[in-house]
Amino acid sequence: MEKNNTSVLLIYTGGTIGMIENAETGALENFDFEQLQKYVPELQRFTFPIDTYQFDPPMDSSDMDPEAWQKLVHIINDNYERYTGFVILHGTDTMAFTASALSFMLENLSKPVILTGSQLPIGVLRTDGKENMLTSIEIAASRDAEGRPMVPEVCIYFESHLMRGNRTTKINAENFNAFRSYNYHSLAEVGIHIKYNEGLIHHEATPHPLKPHFALDTNVCILKLFPGIQESVVRAVLNAEGLKAVVLETYGSGNAPRKEWFLQLLKEASDRGIIFINVTQCPAGSVEMERYETGYRLMQVGVSGGYDSTTESAITKLMFLLGHGYSPEKVRKLMNRSIAGEISL
Ligand code: ASP
Repeated sequence: MEKNNTSVLLIYTGGTIGMIENAETGALENFDFEQLQKYVPELQRFTFPIDTYQFDPPMDSSDMDPEAWQKLVHIINDNYERYTGFVILHGTDTMAFTASALSFMLENLSKPVILTGSQLPIGVLRTDGKENMLTSIEIAASRDAEGRPMVPEVCIYFESHLMRGNRTTKINAENFNAFRSYNYHSLAEVGIHIKYNEGLIHHEATPHPLKPHFALDTNVCILKLFPGIQESVVRAVLNAEGLKAVVLETYGSGNAPRKEWFLQLLKEASDRGIIFINVTQCPAGSVEMERYETGYRLMQVGVSGGYDSTTESAITKLMFLLGHGYSPEKVRKLMNRSIAGEISL
């Protein structure tokens, strides 16, 4: 890619955005991405080339998995020099997991990778997909005054907000405004103008070549607490074969029951090398285990605080770190550091 040559690669993985209504049955079906220009003729108004890559078959994002994330990393890595930026069209349901995973897997990223999707298919009249897609392409192609990519991060763009991918969560199954980044301000707000919050956007001080990572270890799980949770359930989860790490979704600022059986099970598992990361069930705010005795006891049995991490970010970061084959001590240490802007320290 030459300095002033702008071009964007649009990767369609699947999801509602790429669907049309079958005129006879009314059912939603995936359309062939070759027909994209027909449904979005506005694409022709961009003054730079937009190439497309389609997953075949397209995936509902409920089927997303580490293999699909690896495929995305391969596509971006193989095409990295040829494009100014990348837009990934993705189902909304697991978009926040994919964005989090990619933020860790694409080390030294210096180009925009913008994920977007829609609540209504691009082939229906009131679709939110067109605006989401067109604005994402514009953002992926934008540069600052020095000619550097405006947002060299993995982001989610949805309904007027550009958010850091690993800070974002899907919060609404109905509204167009379906994503939020509660613990980190939006990187840009989009109205008549695209207003970038430049001080919040990460730029590598010294650019290094992209370092793609592919290894992920899925021996992890999320355990969400609720009043009345049974000992047999917790025991079964913590004794699952091969389990290496647990994201423990606790109450408020990181609190959990003080019941002896519960703390004992956690301690036994922790002594066996299982890593526990405490994240709050609250959509906003941070874990502070030293604040109440109920959190303090967790610290004593070996649970580490997950700061203000989203669950999506904590679980994918664990997969990423365990994928390196690090010891539990090293993983715990790195969970205490921000490696892609995913936690506030
Ligand atoms: N089930 C769809 C998906 O996540 C929903 C969507 O695209 O918004 O793939």
